[in-house]
Amino acid sequence: MNLQSLENNWIKEFSKPLIIAGPCSAESEAQMLETARRIKESNADVPIFRAGIWKPRTKPNGFEGVGVIGLNWLKKVKEEYGFKTATEVANAHHVAAALEADVDILWIGARSTVNPFTVQEIAEALKGTDKPVLVKNPVNPDLALWIGALERLLGQDVKNLGVLHRGFSTYQKTKYRNVPNWQIALDFKNQFPNIPMLVDPSHICGNRTGLAGIAQEALNVGYEGMMIETHCNPDEAWSDAAQQITPETLAELLQNLKVRNSDI
Ligand code: PEP
Ligand code: MN
Repeated sequence: MNLQSLENNWIKEFSKPLIIAGPCSAESEAQMLETARRIKESNADVPIFRAGIWKPRTKPNGFEGVGVIGLNWLKKVKEEYGFKTATEVANAHHVAAALEADVDILWIGARSTVNPFTVQEIAEALKGTDKPVLVKNPVNPDLALWIGALERLLGQDVKNLGVLHRGFSTYQKTKYRNVPNWQIALDFKNQFPNIPMLVDPSHICGNRTGLAGIAQEALNVGYEGMMIETHCNPDEAWSDAAQQITPETLAELLQNLKVRNSDI
């Protein structure tokens, strides 16, 4: 079995484009439930609710995530509003806790994808799981490292894979928080057309105004979906405040996207 021959039927369970939405960070039960309720009430077609509970912050001594208590809140979001749930895992302890709490979809963050030891540890902890695992691109523009992370997962019989394009770090001043560098993602897509590719406009843009443009550009070139950070009170968010949008703004953004005819 190699990456080329994966079937990746997991994504067919969802309507296309697949939308994952929810706050950058879980902050409180009330924040999680209000965000989930308002996404539901907006009638946007969002099957998966995301929230980071272990947060890889750049600097220490700030908010580093609520930890395992956030797993209970994800469970409530699932029970009360019927979402599937998703969170980031960055080590074997996270994986054990997330699997125990039956989180539906796991993702590996950009700061973890860069580290083969970390990816190997996560892959071994996930061994044989049927849960979909999404791998964000590494923070640096290194296609081989991105592919290597997927190979490590497949090496542990993790077969329901997808990738998340969240842009790449740069020291240059640009309008992006992380430059999209579309060519790297498209090279990935050409090499592995069967592996679902989602875009993460929130971390590419770092602001609210660019989200729709990036989301549309990704759909135009055949991405299968997107993850968009959505918060009940974005201005007060404990992380990534500048890029998060309300559930109502999310619904409007999604309504204005043009889906390719071939995808309908
Ligand atoms: C996130 O999704 O909130 C996150 C930390 O993303 P990234 O790993 O892309 O920086
Ligand atoms: Mn974030």
